[in-house]
Amino acid sequence: MNLSDYKTIESLLKKHGFSFKKSLGQNFLIDSSVCPKMAEFACDETYGVLEIGPGIGVLTKEVSKVAKRVVAIELDERLREILPQTLADCQNVKVIFGDAMKLDLKSIIEENFADCQKVCVCANLPYYITSPIIMMLLESKLPIDNITVMVQKEAAERLCAKVGSRESGAVTVAVDYYADAEILFHVGRNSFMPPPNVDSAVIKLNIRENPPVEVRDEKKFFSLIKACFAQRRKTLVNTVSNTTNYSKDELRNALGELGISETVRAEQLTIEQLANLSNKL
Ligand code: SAM
Repeated sequence: MNLSDYKTIESLLKKHGFSFKKSLGQNFLIDSSVCPKMAEFACDETYGVLEIGPGIGVLTKEVSKVAKRVVAIELDERLREILPQTLADCQNVKVIFGDAMKLDLKSIIEENFADCQKVCVCANLPYYITSPIIMMLLESKLPIDNITVMVQKEAAERLCAKVGSRESGAVTVAVDYYADAEILFHVGRNSFMPPPNVDSAVIKLNIRENPPVEVRDEKKFFSLIKACFAQRRKTLVNTVSNTTNYSKDELRNALGELGISETVRAEQLTIEQLANLSNKL
């Protein structure tokens, strides 16, 4: 069955009375060139691959051709009828129904990929929870070496921006702390059924063995980063003093000791400077 073919998908979904749920970010890929490319970028035959949101299995099928094993987690119970049919030929795929944000992914990896040398995540992510999923994957420190995912173009640009550039935000700093991020290629909105209102991009986050900066207290660092970028147009001193217990004087002193101007905005600082500020405070 050609899972990228519009007519095939249309009749399959019709047969099962399946209608797309916007609330689950259901935009299925219908561009046959995208999934093989994603699979090649993400993994090889030594990998166990965790997929989030297989939909009708178009990416799952391509990843299963390249990887040793695939576990796909799908929230929509209505796909219970469809996936066994579309993935009937894929002996190395297991589908787990549940919410990827709530399942114990560490145990799923341990239970299913013991015979795989490496593990990665490959997915066309539901756009309504792109950043929460990526942050959850990074923060839970799973034994994975890369996250290769399709996200909205704007999200891709933010996630992969250079820290210290206008495009950077709190999520950019968080991603940079855990991974080396790159945009692999762009995908137009017409590659999906139904087409979303925005274009997309495939990004790869190569997980770092060690963070690029020394942070004494990660929790404090990440809450400071959030505060720093809360009001992007304001100076760091104003934003952070408005949203935390740090006073303007404390912030000015810390910046002064680090040789940073007190009128600086968060997007002008490097990850080293942000780490130093957190350590000093
Ligand atoms: N992989 C398919 C493709 O590329 O055509 C479908 C991708 S679609 C953008 C996102 C998929 O994620 C949908 O199948 C949706 O039901 C599923 N999904 C949404 N929220 C989820 C969650 N919290 N956990 C697991 N799957 C979820």
